[in-house]
Amino acid sequence: MSYLKIEGLTKTYNGELKALDALSLNISKSERWSIIGASGSGKSTLLKLIAGMEVQNEGFVYLEGKKILNPKQKLVAGYDELQLVKQDNGLFPLSTVAENISRPLLQYDKEYASERLEILLQVFGLEDKRNSFPRELSGGQQQKVAIARALSLEPEVLLLDEPFSSLDSLQKRGLLDELNLIFKTLGITVIMVTHDIQDALLLTENLCVLSEGKLLRQGKVNEIYENPQTAYVAGFFGPLNSIPGQTNQYLRPSSIKNSTTKGKIKGKVLLKRYFPDYDLLTVEVSEETPPWQITRYERDVSEGATIYMSWEENKVLILDEK
Ligand code: ADP
Ligand code: MG
Repeated sequence: MSYLKIEGLTKTYNGELKALDALSLNISKSERWSIIGASGSGKSTLLKLIAGMEVQNEGFVYLEGKKILNPKQKLVAGYDELQLVKQDNGLFPLSTVAENISRPLLQYDKEYASERLEILLQVFGLEDKRNSFPRELSGGQQQKVAIARALSLEPEVLLLDEPFSSLDSLQKRGLLDELNLIFKTLGITVIMVTHDIQDALLLTENLCVLSEGKLLRQGKVNEIYENPQTAYVAGFFGPLNSIPGQTNQYLRPSSIKNSTTKGKIKGKVLLKRYFPDYDLLTVEVSEETPPWQITRYERDVSEGATIYMSWEENKVLILDEK
């Protein structure tokens, strides 16, 4: 029996738009998953259905064999075991950090509630912010409070809907490292929606790719990276360079060797941009394909220069369009 079982979930809005199309997925306890997909592909709908916060047309969600009931089937929508953190963190602006975190605990035994609060303040490093109001916190700290609040009831599964999209990349990096350690220590099952593969790589090991409500791929992040099968899936990991004269054959920037003197094909450097470890070059290689993105570690070429590129045949990705 799988821990979290999603079986044939279909959701149609307004009788016509299929936001989710017969989606099935099995998740084991303590696994961390990212859900990635273009805007409108059904990611938020999937999380709401898992949490029991939305009514499906077909299909079921089971947690440890127990069927999750939707708001039509259950008096109070949602479950303590499944906590969803939405994109807008939903903090109460006139409540302190401590009040926000303990709000879900109001109905519980006072001793238990204060014990949970202290543990969460400590785990999330928010002890000195307990009396602060959300507006007095950075974006990253606000997200921590929202996640701490979701964990107050000791849920089995934490569902995160693009929780970091409003943070800058430096704030995000530190927060993701911190959360990764917290989630591992708690052994909690996490499903995170993101449009940023970097977030997925920093926080989760498993990936599920959605397109137009359908599950395209599921599995370990590294396996999907190594064998993406379609240009849509491969595109989430970074730029793809299309090989001139070859249909559906692509190279990642990291697979391309470049030289100022010799190589398989020749191109003209259109743009050079400085990155900390390399120069990112945009290179015109042929009239029939879009310019390539390549990386050069020696910072010795200028815009307008000629550059030669080569690659090993086993690095060529043969990808379907869809
Ligand atoms: P994502 O989170 O991947 O951007 P959503 O699950 O929010 O996608 O939406 C999937 C599709 O369903 C989109 O086309 C969206 O416009 C539509 N949709 C989402 N919520 C509603 C709603 N409450 N009413 C009508 N259509 C909706
Ligand atoms: Mg969404």
